[in-house]
Amino acid sequence: MPGHVLNLSSLVQCAHGAPAQPTAPVPTPPRVTILGQAVMTEATAYVVAGCPNTESPPNPVQAPPAPPPPFPCATATWIGATAATRVKTMGLAVLVMSSTATCAPTGREAKPVQVQSRVQAI
Ligand SMILES: [Zn+2]
Repeated sequence: MPGHVLNLSSLVQCAHGAPAQPTAPVPTPPRVTILGQAVMTEATAYVVAGCPNTESPPNPVQAPPAPPPPFPCATATWIGATAATRVKTMGLAVLVMSSTATCAPTGREAKPVQVQSRVQAI
């Protein structure tokens, strides 16, 4: 799906509004930059900081505790099928505005919310 390409300074948030940051650009060293910042690829691992979620996945065996314990998103893994289909760096598809990641352990989505507007990829 075409869209603006994520670089290191693009803002990504989990479904609960907490920021997700790349642990390290992949590939390292980055081969492609936009505005001096490494382009993010489908293989880039993200960590989520400060997620406020307390909603555990449904578990019919356990009674819901009260108050609910924190159940924050910790990591986000990009879904390769949502990355650019025609633009790759070192064989890895670049991430675009419409790309989606899956957070662990919550299983919720993380999505880009603010991305540079100079470069697009298909
Ligand atoms: Zn979250």
